[in-house]
Amino acid sequence: MVVVMSPDATDADIDAVVNKVEYSGGEAFVSRGVVRTIIGLVGDVDRFHGLNLRAMPGVADVHRISDPYKLVSRQHHPDRSTVYVGESQVPIGPGTFTFMAGPCAVETPQQTLEAAQIAKAAGATLLRGGAFKPRTSPYAFQGLGVDGLKILASTRDATGMPIVTEVVDAHDIHVIAEYADMLQIGARNMTNFALLQAVGSAGKPVLLKRGMQSTIEEWLMAAEYIAQRGNLDIVLCERGIRTFERATRNTLDVSAVPVVQIASHLPVIVDPSHASGRRDLVVPLSRAAMGAGADGIIVDVHPQPEEALCDGPQALEGADLRALASAVRQLPPLLGRAPAEPRTPAVSP
Ligand code: PEP
Ligand code: MN
Repeated sequence: MVVVMSPDATDADIDAVVNKVEYSGGEAFVSRGVVRTIIGLVGDVDRFHGLNLRAMPGVADVHRISDPYKLVSRQHHPDRSTVYVGESQVPIGPGTFTFMAGPCAVETPQQTLEAAQIAKAAGATLLRGGAFKPRTSPYAFQGLGVDGLKILASTRDATGMPIVTEVVDAHDIHVIAEYADMLQIGARNMTNFALLQAVGSAGKPVLLKRGMQSTIEEWLMAAEYIAQRGNLDIVLCERGIRTFERATRNTLDVSAVPVVQIASHLPVIVDPSHASGRRDLVVPLSRAAMGAGADGIIVDVHPQPEEALCDGPQALEGADLRALASAVRQLPPLLGRAPAEPRTPAVSP
């Protein structure tokens, strides 16, 4: 159930609703939009009906939401949300197009810095890079762990780019949150519900990738786990799903972008690198993402892709990266989107 507050509702009105719901044994999750605030209620719906919340000061309406996800639903949160990342507040959301790039894995300080520099020169404003890697093979490079986080932090200092990095195990969240600006949940962990709850409580924006076997509804339910912990700073990332097609590593589900935007107020971006696994497809799939209305892309880049310890065949540099940079400069403005500039420009590095 959702309580929609009127635009002139006061903080005291909101607190009164929350207190009444909590006193009745329910939970209330407040989501403040630009125009109005909505309060998601979790608990016994029949008991909520008996509270007569509709009669309380500042309450505009009370709805039973038919979607199985509530807090991330667009049903009563019609404005699409923007998530701001890092001290410099890089926006991800409607009206802008956010280009995120970096190495699949942090390998050395120099490789990470060079990757960040080529990403930044291509127009990227957020740096990606895995320090804890979820690898299909236990024999593959597993990431540098905390040393990798330190490299990411010094690369942020050198370039001014906020960093997004993956959390594989709930035990590491505390240390990762000390260094990272945004926590990534990878495709393989989208249904790790304890991990979702833990990142929901970590106080950082979350990049939630779609599981390769997951429906859009399951993906939104995963987002709901994070939102339920009071964190609505969630960005969804379509990264390809498993189909019978073997020409690409996964099949990019471009239709997920508008489907999610109709169903949810959360921003949605696309990862053409992990979707295809092929460098030669990254630029066309990025263009497709822009055309479908994605709020951004996240792309693997590497200064020497042939030497990469992880996912080299999909990493861009040189001419491919220049082609991507030109698409990012030209296409989003045609579709009414500005480049995602930091809200509070960082002190220049
Ligand atoms: C990644 O982004 O490094 C990654 C492992 O992606 P995914 O979880 O989408 O496979
Ligand atoms: Mn990868």
